[in-house]
Amino acid sequence: MSKIVGIDLGTTFSVIAYLNDLGKAEIAPNYENNQKTLASVVYIDEPNKKVLVGEKALNSFKAEPKKVVQAVKREMERECVWSTLKGEFIDKNTADVGDDEYTPAQISSLILKKLSEFNEGTKKVIVTVPAMFAETARRATSDAVKLAGLELIDLINEPTAAILHYASIPDIDVSGKIMVFDLGGGTFDVSIADVNHTEIDMITSRGDKNLGGHDFDNFISEEISKDYEKQKGQSLSEQDQRTLLPLAEKIKKALSFKKETSEFIDGPAGPHEFKLTRDQFNEMIKLKLTQIKMLMEEALEKKNIKTNEIDQILLVGGSTRIPAVVDLITEFMGKSPIRGVDVDESVALGAAIFAGLNTSSSDLSASQKKSLKDVKLSDVSNHYFGTGMLDWDEKLANHVVKNDILIPRDKKLPYSITKPYVTAYDGQESISCQVTQSEHEETDMEFVNVLKEAKLALPPNRKAGQPIDVTFTYDKSGRMNCEFIDINTSEKVILDLRPDSTLSPEEAELDFKID
Ligand code: ADP
Ligand code: MG
Repeated sequence: MSKIVGIDLGTTFSVIAYLNDLGKAEIAPNYENNQKTLASVVYIDEPNKKVLVGEKALNSFKAEPKKVVQAVKREMERECVWSTLKGEFIDKNTADVGDDEYTPAQISSLILKKLSEFNEGTKKVIVTVPAMFAETARRATSDAVKLAGLELIDLINEPTAAILHYASIPDIDVSGKIMVFDLGGGTFDVSIADVNHTEIDMITSRGDKNLGGHDFDNFISEEISKDYEKQKGQSLSEQDQRTLLPLAEKIKKALSFKKETSEFIDGPAGPHEFKLTRDQFNEMIKLKLTQIKMLMEEALEKKNIKTNEIDQILLVGGSTRIPAVVDLITEFMGKSPIRGVDVDESVALGAAIFAGLNTSSSDLSASQKKSLKDVKLSDVSNHYFGTGMLDWDEKLANHVVKNDILIPRDKKLPYSITKPYVTAYDGQESISCQVTQSEHEETDMEFVNVLKEAKLALPPNRKAGQPIDVTFTYDKSGRMNCEFIDINTSEKVILDLRPDSTLSPEEAELDFKID
């Protein structure tokens, strides 16, 4: 068994996988229900320090919705905490962080702890993240691993992992331009890669962090509320409404297999039978489908790729079971996606293969080595990265700070660039060294995220126009190192951006007993 395991830490479901002795990726099943997945749901009973993870936590939702944390992955990039008092995520700055509030990383660590129990001896892990995950979310994921008492070997982007898995299936010949279409519970991503059997070059990813199956559940649950009121003359209480989501999901899933379905809804005016047809459901999600189509268009257009140049389409994520989603892809792309591979498993299985690639060859069996022999992988930068630069503004007759991009989006990794700058004015005392991140090619500092900053002090009486070199180096795993050098003195500031732990003291490992 490979020493390193692969983990798909999903918004809705998480999966853990390993490379078996024959070099084939396998899921370590959930021993509680014999399923391959673990619901990414955590129940926290603060007063009794009791935690449930997975299906048991999900089942507690009806009775105690405020103790159940769902879709924590959506919060990973935010500065927020789960308030056990309020039963919701609140802004970290407005909260007085105490014993009863937990960061998304802390909550995710509980899911990781539970998952790692499915595979005995789990210690070193590869964790998958959406290609679009921001730096802060990557760091929070890394924190979660540490808080779970595990060691993060690397993060891998989910579409890359999915292709790695598909490319390893003997019956499927994955080659050419491949599109990975991933529609899960919380997010949508579309990625394109050049694949030559086991050589995988990612080209681009586009997506929406807030588009997925949960939205569809919300639409149905809103419809149920409206229908109940209309038919019964009384509205559902807030408590009743909260419990609608699991029912809505059940209805949605049923409509993937049949044309109409119904469920009984409890409420103040007695039970009511709510009916929904597949056509009505398709109408509800129409706008979301349009958004999905636009993102597919954007990914293709940005890379000048025509729909007919895509050779194969791979499906990932539970929401690709919705017939209207497959119809949309088939119609827009002019071909059907590949069928026959479980859309819930490929990301974790690909992560297990990547784990194998990261295992030293002395720890691999001969079969494992053989299965990994020809695999080559390259990824691209998922954002624009730049730095703040002083620029002379004629209109304002003053210097203004502008964002200057050093690493564009979709740049093949590893990548390194050195850009020469100069001091802006006589007597400048310091250089403000910044690393910025943005989804678009921004010059306005208002619209970028400053990931790190520091000051580089300059000697007194420095003249304008003296050289300052800035070097950004982005390695193949998405770690970045940024250097700002004063050429005359060789003084430099190094900003290291790694998805490494930034844990503050109050974010200690939780001593909860997990059930
Ligand atoms: P994530 O990667 O966000 O954890 P998954 O890929 O596991 O998500 O997908 C979970 C989503 O898939 C949920 O919203 C779930 O309701 C949805 N889903 C699962 N099965 C079906 C189905 N048969 N029909 C429609 N949606 C489904
Ligand atoms: Mg997923």
